[in-house]
Amino acid sequence: MSESKKQKLLNVDTSDGTDSANSKLKDEFRFSEDPSLEKIREIQAVFCRERNWDQFHTPRNVLLALVGEVGELAEIFQWKGEVDVGLPDFSQEERDHVGQEMSDILIYLVRLADRCRIDLPSAVLQKIEHNAQKYPVNKAYGNNKKYTAYAAEDAGKALPNGDQ
Ligand SMILES: [Mg+2]
Repeated sequence: MSESKKQKLLNVDTSDGTDSANSKLKDEFRFSEDPSLEKIREIQAVFCRERNWDQFHTPRNVLLALVGEVGELAEIFQWKGEVDVGLPDFSQEERDHVGQEMSDILIYLVRLADRCRIDLPSAVLQKIEHNAQKYPVNKAYGNNKKYTAYAAEDAGKALPNGDQ
């Protein structure tokens, strides 16, 4: 990815198009600044090294542990039906549990990337750029079609002789 594309993604405009200095997106929920993914990678690497766990953390083993944690998160939501944004009907204990299982997932994902030697933050930016190409705003705005539907629609618009 070019440096200019990277900077454009990192300097994403969070305004909502209004003239408000504090736009809606900026006022919405956001994460803490720290720790970065690299800091999480580093903390977990030290945690594992201190326990002599590197020998167990092959990519496959870490992947299976990650999948198990996804199951633990899903179990909290199981049988609840649809859940509103912000989890307003969850108890504080359930919210804490959700955060713990999400953390298990993130820790294992970062550990997996480390053990696979995948630069996860860089890969994320590349994937977002790729998704932006697959889902251009003018075609994806307000609909949930898979990107392959756009190609089918475009093909349908093409004239029989191939001219567009
Ligand atoms: Mg867990």
